[in-house]
Amino acid sequence: MRAIVTGCAGFIGSHLCERLVADGWRVTGIDAFTDYYDRSEKRANLDELVHESRFDLVECDLNRAPLGRLLHEGTAVFHLAAQPGVRASFGDEFTRYLHDNVAATQRLFEVAAERGIERVVYASSSSVYGDAPEYPCAETAGTAPRSPYGVTKRTCEDLGRIARQAGVETIGLRYFTVYGPRQRPDMAMRRLCEAAIDGSTFRLFGDGHQSRDFTYVTDAVDATVRAMVGPDAGPVLNVGGGEEATMNEVIEIIERLSGEELSIERVPVQRGDVVRTCADTSLARSVLGWHPRTALADGLRAELEFVEERSGSRREVAA
Ligand code: NAD
Repeated sequence: MRAIVTGCAGFIGSHLCERLVADGWRVTGIDAFTDYYDRSEKRANLDELVHESRFDLVECDLNRAPLGRLLHEGTAVFHLAAQPGVRASFGDEFTRYLHDNVAATQRLFEVAAERGIERVVYASSSSVYGDAPEYPCAETAGTAPRSPYGVTKRTCEDLGRIARQAGVETIGLRYFTVYGPRQRPDMAMRRLCEAAIDGSTFRLFGDGHQSRDFTYVTDAVDATVRAMVGPDAGPVLNVGGGEEATMNEVIEIIERLSGEELSIERVPVQRGDVVRTCADTSLARSVLGWHPRTALADGLRAELEFVEERSGSRREVAA
């Protein structure tokens, strides 16, 4: 079993590679180590993998990578590389989103079709929905992204449908806020854990009543692997953890786990942010037999412990 994982040094990609290697796959990871956040974080994400004989790293931008050489018939292709982040996608940075999300994805799909790749499982996002017409939100609901980032992800889904016509089973996973160890430093839970550990102030956008359907990273990875080895569940599939919580509730849990009262600065809602996300995951459950296993408090405890470890500090985390 041979797999390509793009975005292998990122948060979700590094967990996916570890899972695949543990399951006996031979994995080639591709990553450009973009500077959206500290590259040393991405190097550290690969600590467990670099010594694995079944893991190879190709450090390269997907727009230039020798994909024709790397993709062979029978290769399972997991495409997670992207420029993530809702707020940063406005303004001049948008060109980066076009390059890393739209252009890179189209190039990968085209090479996959040329090389006879059967299936590409790729990362889409709950951001394609925008403020959904109803909750929980099924794949059949309309999409109306509220950010340029969401638009690039919806475009990737359109490109995925075109690649399907060329014979590649593309399956876009609409991940709902993934969290856990190695979460990106720009994401709220990571910043909250850091605030609990180093006493920094957390900037809360809005009144804290906005809610998210949080998905623990190993649950997201499990859905990703099942999407590759199971029946064709495409073209798109919701991957949501099933435990919706408001930001105020998340803050309360982190305060309880850390035993610290967090310093919070309330600032206005940012453009692109939606009020609520909540996935209907019936399709993933029925077609892939997938269900999320990790309770929010357990996942947050693991993330808090990870942040402590990476920051080099040690403190007791409440059970
Ligand atoms: P991440 O930034 O940690 O990982 C993405 C990786 O892709 C990075 O290591 C980056 O260097 C690499 N990359 C970017 N552009 C590249 C290019 N052109 N060529 C090669 N490598 C490139 O992000 P993540 O949070 O792990 O997200 C993984 C995927 O899941 C992304 O597609 C993201 O849009 C999607 N997603 C994530 C979440 C979440 O909650 N984390 C939610 C919805 C969707």
